[in-house]
Amino acid sequence: MQIGSTPLRIVIVGGGTAGWMAANLLARRWRSRQVAITLLESPEIGIVGVGEGSTPLLGTFFEKLGIADSDWMPKCNATYKNGIRFSGWSDIKGHESYFHPFASAIDIHGQSAFFMHCALRRNGYDVAANPDRFFIAAELARQRLAPLAAHHFPFRIFHGYHFDAHRVGALLGEHAQRLGVEHLHGTVVTVERGEGGAVLAVGTEDGRRIAGDFFVDCSGFRSLIVQQALGVPFRQFADNLFNDRAVVLPTPTDPTGTNSQTISTALRNGWVWNIPLRHRHGNGYVYSSRFCTPDQAEHELREHLGLLDDPVGARHLQMRVGRVEQVWVHNCLAVGLSQGFIEPLEATALHLVQTTIESFIEQVERDGDLDARRQSFNDGIARDFEGVRDYIVCHYRMNRRTDTEYWRANASHDQLSDSLKAILTCWFTGRNLEQEIARQGIADIYPPMSWHCLLAGYGQFPDPAKLRTPEPGIAVADIAGIDDFRSRCALNFRDHAQVLAEMAA
Ligand SMILES: Cc1cc2nc3c(=O)[nH]c(=O)nc-3n(C[C@H](O)[C@H](O)[C@H](O)COP(=O)(O)OP(=O)(O)OC[C@H]3O[C@@H](n4cnc5c(N)ncnc54)[C@H](O)[C@@H]3O)c2cc1C
Repeated sequence: MQIGSTPLRIVIVGGGTAGWMAANLLARRWRSRQVAITLLESPEIGIVGVGEGSTPLLGTFFEKLGIADSDWMPKCNATYKNGIRFSGWSDIKGHESYFHPFASAIDIHGQSAFFMHCALRRNGYDVAANPDRFFIAAELARQRLAPLAAHHFPFRIFHGYHFDAHRVGALLGEHAQRLGVEHLHGTVVTVERGEGGAVLAVGTEDGRRIAGDFFVDCSGFRSLIVQQALGVPFRQFADNLFNDRAVVLPTPTDPTGTNSQTISTALRNGWVWNIPLRHRHGNGYVYSSRFCTPDQAEHELREHLGLLDDPVGARHLQMRVGRVEQVWVHNCLAVGLSQGFIEPLEATALHLVQTTIESFIEQVERDGDLDARRQSFNDGIARDFEGVRDYIVCHYRMNRRTDTEYWRANASHDQLSDSLKAILTCWFTGRNLEQEIARQGIADIYPPMSWHCLLAGYGQFPDPAKLRTPEPGIAVADIAGIDDFRSRCALNFRDHAQVLAEMAA
């Protein structure tokens, strides 16, 4: 596959968020280099449409396309996200809830104090170690502020977004077509392959043959080309990620203000997300069918939301959790749900979509042996998936609930990767976690800050009854000073609802 030397036709199958993200990134990069891009989507099969939260990487996606927040957020009912609050996952006093922030440059002081306190607490000292006290994003979320600093406060705050996935898809579809992407409707029923195994064309229900030089499989959980036609094996994560279903219900917006965080609340057999959009709240209970039925899950979700007698309909979804063994096979790349899925606890799916496409573009554009690069690309994507999986598994492993079989099974299974085992051993033996993460080379997936937040957030420290006051000579952070710093920094940010309203005006 050589970009620019000869005309090339890329066919993307699927018009969900993954398909349109791929179309935009590929068209933006290659449209002037003899590459024609067609996106084909089924008019009968809808999109999954529930991906409503992102990491900060989505900001760079829109930036690359030259689309400002004010151009897309109002159209997609989007809001800002400072991070995720985890509630009800631990019953340890002071750790019933914690905030996982997106850390920014301004957090340098708070972060080193946090790491220092985590180390002290792990070694038996009675010091504050809930991440809420140390990061600016936690304060912005607490006060429902938007993460956009005033002009005189020269610090960029990392943030993600919440959005209506259907509207983002439509907006990206229009943008891709402006970049020259051809948009076709049709349901693929056949995949035609050549002698060497490469895909030559897809055939639609109404008898059309759509040929291409390269195919991007964005057909969702069906994984029409990579898994079904090419037979690439799917590696399930069910041994250590039990959740395989979700039930989704909207609620009205909060008249008192707009949260700038996702809230993840642990329930009896899973957890529920609460995502504030401009026109509604998205709520979804992610649970395991091994431990409760869809009816029980819906009942519990309705109870949690105060909707037991409400006629609003719930949507039930199945999730296939795991990854394909290789995302790039022959002349086909799987992107989005067709490449795999890890439950949405950290809202990483679109992040992985973006990194997959961006890394693919980089590999294709480099010189040298494409086959060798394809192998290392596949290994890299697999490593990212397994890294995200380990971080999510760690949430479940560290939960301190004992009220149901679900939580007990999550806390006690022995299906941990060697990487996660080493991280936990390091934490519980009081050694340096930053060094362990550097040793493993996994900081690009989740940095030390995230691991500290998770482990400290759930209160994974020695028994509080046995903690001792730091002796004179043991350095401790000036917590009152950090509280003051955080709250004074927050004076430079404005009310989230107001910022969004002005953007939409
Ligand atoms: C419960 C749940 C919660 C989630 N929450 C988040 C979140 O907070 N953050 C996040 O980043 N991600 C989240 N995700 C993941 C996110 O929704 C997806 O990664 C994202 O929407 C991309 O989906 P997709 O485009 O791969 O697939 P889909 O949206 O399913 O799109 C598939 C496309 O393929 C087409 N298609 C299928 N078969 C054919 C065929 N035979 N012929 C032609 N076209 C076909 C369909 O028409 C459709 O256009 C969540 C997922 C689930 C299940």
